[in-house]
Amino acid sequence: MTLEHAQATLKKVFGYDRFRPLQPEIIQAVYNKRDTLVLMPTGGGKSICYQIPALTMEGTTVVVSPLIALMKDQVEGLRGNGAPAAFINSTLSAAETRSVEEDLLAGRIKLLYVSPEKLVSQGFQPLLKRLRISLFAVDEAHCISAWGHDFRPEYTQLKFLKAQFPGVPMLALTATADKLTRKDIVEQLNLRDPAIFIASFDRPNISLTVRRGQKRFEQITAFLKQHPGQSGIIYCLARRTCEDLSEKLNARGFNTAPYHANLPARERERVQDDFINDRVPIICATIAFGMGIDKSNVRFIIHYNLPRNLEGYYQEIGRAGRDGLPAEALLFFSYQDVMTYRQMFEEGEAVQDQKDLKIAKLNRMYQFAEAPVCRRKTVLHYFGEAYEQNCGNCDVCRNPPRQFDGTVAAQKALSALLRLEEKVGINMLVDVLRGSQRRDIFNLGYNQIKTYGAGKEYSFEEWQFLLSQMLHHGLIEIAYDDNNCLKVTDTGRAILFDNQQVRLALPPRPEEKAEARANAPKPPTQTQQLRNELFDRLVALRRKIGQQEGIPPYLVFSDATLEQMAQKRPITDADMLYISGVGERKLQKYGDAFIGAVRQFVREKIADGQTVPGSTYLLTWDMFKKGVEIREIARQREISPVTVISHLATMYERGELVDIDTWVSPEELDIIQGSLSLFEEPYQLKDIFEHFNKRFTYEAIRFSIADAKRKERF
Ligand code: ADP
Ligand code: ZN
Repeated sequence: MTLEHAQATLKKVFGYDRFRPLQPEIIQAVYNKRDTLVLMPTGGGKSICYQIPALTMEGTTVVVSPLIALMKDQVEGLRGNGAPAAFINSTLSAAETRSVEEDLLAGRIKLLYVSPEKLVSQGFQPLLKRLRISLFAVDEAHCISAWGHDFRPEYTQLKFLKAQFPGVPMLALTATADKLTRKDIVEQLNLRDPAIFIASFDRPNISLTVRRGQKRFEQITAFLKQHPGQSGIIYCLARRTCEDLSEKLNARGFNTAPYHANLPARERERVQDDFINDRVPIICATIAFGMGIDKSNVRFIIHYNLPRNLEGYYQEIGRAGRDGLPAEALLFFSYQDVMTYRQMFEEGEAVQDQKDLKIAKLNRMYQFAEAPVCRRKTVLHYFGEAYEQNCGNCDVCRNPPRQFDGTVAAQKALSALLRLEEKVGINMLVDVLRGSQRRDIFNLGYNQIKTYGAGKEYSFEEWQFLLSQMLHHGLIEIAYDDNNCLKVTDTGRAILFDNQQVRLALPPRPEEKAEARANAPKPPTQTQQLRNELFDRLVALRRKIGQQEGIPPYLVFSDATLEQMAQKRPITDADMLYISGVGERKLQKYGDAFIGAVRQFVREKIADGQTVPGSTYLLTWDMFKKGVEIREIARQREISPVTVISHLATMYERGELVDIDTWVSPEELDIIQGSLSLFEEPYQLKDIFEHFNKRFTYEAIRFSIADAKRKERF
């Protein structure tokens, strides 16, 4: 097996022009029959790493996958591309299972997806032994680790595979990066001297934004208005919040549904189905939602509450933008969220060590939200990946904080805190500094202290921002064991009494405004407008086809593929094959429908008096199909007859049927094509014309060339 072969299969079956980073190396390792471990972020393209070997090697590849819903999706996707795939799990009837088994034994299936339970069950062993297995692919391999959050006991039994099938390579794949899990996978699966590939976990197409959770509802409705019709998930911590939020959003005219573990199974299934099929674009969900979903066109993830750790955050936002197109992650946070989690962890059964670990991770999460540092840099560093530049695609990079000498501000806060005998939390401290008229301030006599009202120059939010930095710099700390009161540390005392300096940042100006200024809606250019309009139309067509075939629309074509069609406006089979994501089977199945839609769109625009680049071939072609004479076409279109011929030849070359005998006889065709190797591409008609001493017409030569190219292509 060679990589050229792999590359050709990638194009033919999936319609992709090139491999993504590490895919070829991984495939080569499998070809070399090495055990292999792949760490790649969600959406990185793990599936291709076993699908291409499966399709190119002899025998059947067995894919272990823990998520039954995903299995069906993947198999449908593969079949849609003409790849012989099937699955066996508990959802199949006995008869269905038998039929898959027959296909397997007859060698008709290249990819078999099985649940781990099934694979390790006694009943399955005889079949397994009779198959010719090319590869075991273990997807979501981190499920094997008892340390991870998705631990599945059945996975630990997969050890037997290596013992039973020592000659079959094993490929383990996961999007969980940490070292402990990695080690667990290698050990538990018994991988032998595995090749290990670790891809970058950066997802540059996802823009990251973090905001304080004030007026969340208004912020969310404003966001949704800017993303009409797009698919997204809003993660909430509490089940109640999912329901309330969904209801409130629906009352505002958005189309949302709630999802959480307390809903009946059937209801959950329905919501998931509606989401996958683009019937309900927005789901307000607890983190239970999304695991079994492979929907590639999720355009945004909103966290209504702070996630409990950065692992969770990154996994959840990773569900957006799998198709590689721009996507957004918007996170709201408040200190209240931290308190809620702390309480949950305290009440949980976990042993002390685990509690501590959870709390430490939670603190990192909170720091991430608060620190005015490039978000991407912070997360990637957390996952142990070097990332030195600033990303330019997060709220901090877009709207950097303003650094200043914060000594005086810090001194005011520290002094007030000491005068309040370190008996207050953040909110009270800020209110005192700002001279609030709150009743309890007067009752407690806090209005009497010297620093009351000494910090009016900063808003409430600005003080919160400053205080949180003072926390990070270690000037103050939170006494969790004393009602979360703030305490001044030794470092803080040094600032207050020894005149040490500290630099702080002021919060960026309110972000919505700054962003609104930055991307003040420029009116779309005509090209963009054409593109958007056509895209919407193709999306509608895709939905209709999905409905007719009973498959999720994104399995027809991904957003990325439709985006390219909207940009390139393919009007022939050949144009279509240039579009990434259109393989041979998809061209056969959907080519006519989508080419038809593009053509119709172009015609309408032309009739409307607009210019559409690349449409000239189509106009000539349409007239020709109606039976208009060449000369008449030339006259009406105000082009030369030679140009008309050239248009027709181009359409022929790209896959349309033309009776070329009218211009070139089979004998002439043979002779002219036989001479083509003497010339270089792009062929100059005149050279060939003269080579044959004007024996053949220009038309004959043009069509001979077109015919040669057409044969090469199809
Ligand atoms: P993962 O399993 O790592 O989350 P997938 O295998 O589902 O990711 O791939 C994510 C998306 O990227 C899919 O839509 C897939 O078809 C697409 N993809 C994978 N490899 C390529 C490639 N070489 N070129 C273009 N698209 C690709
Ligand atoms: Zn950044």
